[in-house]
Amino acid sequence: MNAEIIAVGTELLLGQILNTNAAYLSRELAEMGIDCYYQTVVGDNQKRLEEVMRHSERRSDIHIFIGGLGPTKDDLTKETLSAYLNVPLVTDDGAAEKVIRFYRNLDRKMTENNWKQAQVLKDSTVLKNTTGLAAGTYLEKEGHLYILLPGPPSELKPMFENEVKPLLLAESTEESVMVSRVLRFFGIGESTLASKLNDLIEQQTNPTIATYAGDHEVTVRLTAKGTTEKSCQALIDSLEKEIQFRVGEFLYGYGENNRLANEVKQLLIEKRLQITAAESLTGGAFQSELASVSGVSECFAGGIVTYSHTIKEDVLGVSSDTIERYGVVSADCAIEMAEKARDLFQATIGISFTGAAGPSSLEGELPGSVWIGFSMKGKPSFAKHYRFAKDRNNNRKRAVLSGLDLIRR
Ligand code: ATP
Ligand code: MG
Repeated sequence: MNAEIIAVGTELLLGQILNTNAAYLSRELAEMGIDCYYQTVVGDNQKRLEEVMRHSERRSDIHIFIGGLGPTKDDLTKETLSAYLNVPLVTDDGAAEKVIRFYRNLDRKMTENNWKQAQVLKDSTVLKNTTGLAAGTYLEKEGHLYILLPGPPSELKPMFENEVKPLLLAESTEESVMVSRVLRFFGIGESTLASKLNDLIEQQTNPTIATYAGDHEVTVRLTAKGTTEKSCQALIDSLEKEIQFRVGEFLYGYGENNRLANEVKQLLIEKRLQITAAESLTGGAFQSELASVSGVSECFAGGIVTYSHTIKEDVLGVSSDTIERYGVVSADCAIEMAEKARDLFQATIGISFTGAAGPSSLEGELPGSVWIGFSMKGKPSFAKHYRFAKDRNNNRKRAVLSGLDLIRR
């Protein structure tokens, strides 16, 4: 069985929106082991959409349509497919009830075209929309499978995950359970990671391994198919063990939406530690990243931004001697900043950031030369040097994440 994704929408052709739905569906299909050989984008035009359907039927078995299920005139996916396949549209009671309730709650009069959202192709399986109104359709006809999904990603994703996936899985194999685990890595590039896992990636069948390079980090998704959740987890456990053995030191956490700051927060709370920061080149970005995680007030009371020499000296209390002798891009300055911040905010851990953010040099130091200072109650302070690249804001972001990683270790 191979699939084709057909995204419908003139706004996609005009470049007004990105086809993120197709990217999402392609990833999901790949994980399920369903080949996707074609992705098509077509405007809101009946004739051209029909033409695309004809092509798709010749070369694919599963046809996944995105968008055009809404109430307006340019939403014509269902109507076009209905005419093309000679299958009438019928109103689904469940979906109709939802539409009625929606307008009653809004206290607004429903217009005739709102009914469109409750219509589905006759004899199809209705796909429930838990986050919107338009019902989806899953229709098997003469060896082909037609799947109609709504355009808004917030509607498409849960519909695919909860409604379509189980049907597709049941269709393709007896192994109708699929489990994924996302491993998150920091401090190792995607190509290095992939090369360390090369043989595993090449031999992959079940579980599958997919690596993605994200925002300064890499994620690895392991997906297993099986007959029970437990058997899937066992397959993933044993593969993860091997991965841990090879690159475990860079693994910082699990989950799709997890982030380094969250893991650090948890760790600090578990160990009952209080953190503070003195930031120069990061300009508060470290504290901002920490504060983006909920519940962080248990381990973070505040910190300071000390951008200029004067503020480093007069407000934070770094000695002018240190700055004169070693400069601000130095281990000595970083350590003193971390220690003074710790005193000032009475924390167990003080971290500091100082360096040349770029694009120009600072004190003769090349852009991207960064020191992170670390001071912890009862332990010797130290500073670690990083050599990033030229791009200013990339360097600042990398400094923030490297600081978090330093705490985690
Ligand atoms: P609605 O009921 O909101 O009209 P619909 O099913 O008719 O939904 P469209 O009208 O085609 O879908 O698209 C609605 C919105 O969904 C678009 O404005 C866009 O924001 C988003 N969208 C549509 N197609 C895609 C796509 N392929 N990738 C990402 N977003 C999309
Ligand atoms: Mg629409």
